[in-house]
Amino acid sequence: KKRIGVMTSGGDAPGMNAAVRAVVRMTIARGCESYAIYEGYTGLVKGGNFIRKMSWEDVRGWLSEGGTLIGTARCKEFRERPGRLAGAKNLILNGIDALIICGGDGSLTGADIFRREWPNLLEELVKTGELQREQIEPYMHLNIAGLVGSIDNDMTGTDATIGCYSSLTRICQAVDYIDATAYSHSRAFVVEVMGRHCGWLALMAGVSTGADFVFLPEKPPASDWEDDMCAIISKHRGMGKRKTIVIVAEGATDADLNPITASYVKDVLSGKLHLDTRITTLGHVQRGGTACAYDRMLATLQGVEAVDAILEATPETPSPVIVVNENKISRKPLMEAVEQTQAGAACIARKDFEGAMKLRDREFEE
Ligand code: ATP
Repeated sequence: KKRIGVMTSGGDAPGMNAAVRAVVRMTIARGCESYAIYEGYTGLVKGGNFIRKMSWEDVRGWLSEGGTLIGTARCKEFRERPGRLAGAKNLILNGIDALIICGGDGSLTGADIFRREWPNLLEELVKTGELQREQIEPYMHLNIAGLVGSIDNDMTGTDATIGCYSSLTRICQAVDYIDATAYSHSRAFVVEVMGRHCGWLALMAGVSTGADFVFLPEKPPASDWEDDMCAIISKHRGMGKRKTIVIVAEGATDADLNPITASYVKDVLSGKLHLDTRITTLGHVQRGGTACAYDRMLATLQGVEAVDAILEATPETPSPVIVVNENKISRKPLMEAVEQTQAGAACIARKDFEGAMKLRDREFEE
């Protein structure tokens, strides 16, 4: 029976448990054996009890659980060949030659490197006497499939990552709570949200809560942004609005890449507009809690697709990443998606903001 491993890696995101549940159950439904690799690549490198056979019942109730119940980690060892050699040995010892990884672009890059090196790693394990040739022979090809788990929605080629809508929902709830107190005291709040180099959470939170002003990494404001922001907020106040909400993405900068921080924005609002201004940094509440309905659905449909992608893969097929575009689940070449994601970040680093947006929205060649 074919054995398929599943793991979560990188930052946790709501919906990862739903993805693991779907992969485990679909693996079993397709007549294969399911294994979970606990603690991301750390579990792969350490082996032993970190790699456990999963049954249908083991993932009961996981649809609604937040975080990732099989654990996640950042693992330095896996970035180096000796770590990947240990990982390959542990998979062979468990008879696993297929992996489904739910993580961000870093985790998926690591998986693709591992897949490309795989035959070479096995040969080295035989040469050094760690494994016998008979042990490796049935497993000469590693198949992998990627699921994008990230609250940031920062992967090119997919409309949504597993976790981003849960996080957005949480941000909206938090801003709703803040709204009530801001209104009562006629205050301004500067709300800092996560997203690293990606402004999706900040932008969509702004749209969904009717924020007065939003700062994004991909679209730095003009150099006179202080006056611009103050003029807009004054206009809103002049129309009788008692509360002011400004959303700042954690990676927001000006056009010269100087960070625009929540505390700087607060100083502008209190200094220039004399507004009683407070800062709320939402932090890890944006990651916690249960997954919203959309993430449960996305993770389940994509988990099913990932198992089928593994079972249909040939040694020639490029590693797939499971995406969603215009409400349809499909597969795309994993490394193409990762490379464009990284190229987008590189554009921002050299102040090519338009280039970054184009790459983020680029259609893939089918
Ligand atoms: P997030 O978006 O939440 O940060 P991520 O998957 O991008 O998730 P990373 O910390 O970049 O998070 O990667 C997670 C793990 O994947 C790393 O700790 C490392 O073990 C592995 N990894 C990342 N990049 C590579 C690489 N180039 N080669 C081998 N392994 C890698």
